[in-house]
Amino acid sequence: MELRKITYRMYPGTSQTEKLDELLGLHRRVYNTALEERIRVYGESKKSLGFAAQCKEITVWRKQCEVLATVNAQSLQVTLKRLDLAYASFFRRVKAGETAGFPRFKAVQRFSGWGYKTHGDGWRLHAGDKMRHGHVRLSGVGMVKLRGQARTPGIVKTAEVQHKDGRWYLSVTVECEPRRTGGTEAMGMDWGLETFATVCSGENDTLSVPNPRFLDKPQRQKIKVLKQAVSRKTNKRSNNRRKAVALLSAESRRVANRRKDFLHKTSAKLVNQYGLIATEQLSIKNMTANGGEYKKGLNRSILDTAPSTFLNLLKTKAEEAGSLWVEVPTRQVKPSQTCHRCGSQRKKLLSERKHQCDCGASCSRDENAARVMLNWALSGNATGQELSEAGSGCRLAVQNRETPLIAALAA
Ligand SMILES: [Zn+2]
Repeated sequence: MELRKITYRMYPGTSQTEKLDELLGLHRRVYNTALEERIRVYGESKKSLGFAAQCKEITVWRKQCEVLATVNAQSLQVTLKRLDLAYASFFRRVKAGETAGFPRFKAVQRFSGWGYKTHGDGWRLHAGDKMRHGHVRLSGVGMVKLRGQARTPGIVKTAEVQHKDGRWYLSVTVECEPRRTGGTEAMGMDWGLETFATVCSGENDTLSVPNPRFLDKPQRQKIKVLKQAVSRKTNKRSNNRRKAVALLSAESRRVANRRKDFLHKTSAKLVNQYGLIATEQLSIKNMTANGGEYKKGLNRSILDTAPSTFLNLLKTKAEEAGSLWVEVPTRQVKPSQTCHRCGSQRKKLLSERKHQCDCGASCSRDENAARVMLNWALSGNATGQELSEAGSGCRLAVQNRETPLIAALAA
């Protein structure tokens, strides 16, 4: 079992927003007051006030303060825990001889939200099918509409309400059994004709997945011969014909299996290594229709390598692994016409297999396209795309949501 976060964007109504604002203010005050208390107690007695002692204190405060009494008790403890953690990391830094930075009093802008420890205590999630969209009931606020989606649904554990740039988010931690674990590198991928796929990650890391052999010329020839053998045998009930048909279907099945095997293995390997996959939106129709003479000749190999099956497998596996899947809008980004280094654009014929630019960039056409897509994803666009899908709107939310943290994005 693994813990993962799902970030939903919350859509509170006007009065709900007021209540959320009020709760945010109360948690902030509790945080600041608790910090003040720690400082005061230490100043008076040189003794430190710990988390457990502060939890007892808050019970007293709740009895004295009517507004505070309405706030979920566990969520107040979570806020105290945060202060405790701030202290813990302060002491850790002191010990390590780093710049210590004493825990600060939080201004409104610096206070991001609060949390809940147990599902059903102060909050309850009413998510839709497969944990897509839905509502959350927050005590003191009511039913708030949610938009977002789980990659791997699971048992709901804890939640955090976050306030960022005027928007509200609910980050839910679930315990789930991911079917797959993704890698941590970011890559851009272009699938092609001469090469099945070109995968670029780091500055000089380019991986070429060669076209599989299962439908190369000798193989096609073999099937052609078997087909001819069948059509030569005109008597539909003859034993010879039946044998020929059996041979043909056995061979076709072998090819189909090898192809399936190749697509599964290749996609699994890529997902295993990469936590962000940026690739082109795929439209077979665009690829095979009206492509001119050059393209027509290539149609066969395009269909043979089955990019749509491959991309679907890759996408499904990436989702299982909780990885980021970025579909680059081809028309907007123009991966094959843009230079990955300087960004200048120039129309290329499909027959032009090299990318040569005045800026000095020189590589294969596919590698350039893959790099353009990777750049586009890493320059923040991936998160935008991801978030429109999740229904939320900030970069951090995505990172929280992903279990494998992508180094390139975190930088
Ligand atoms: Zn250039």
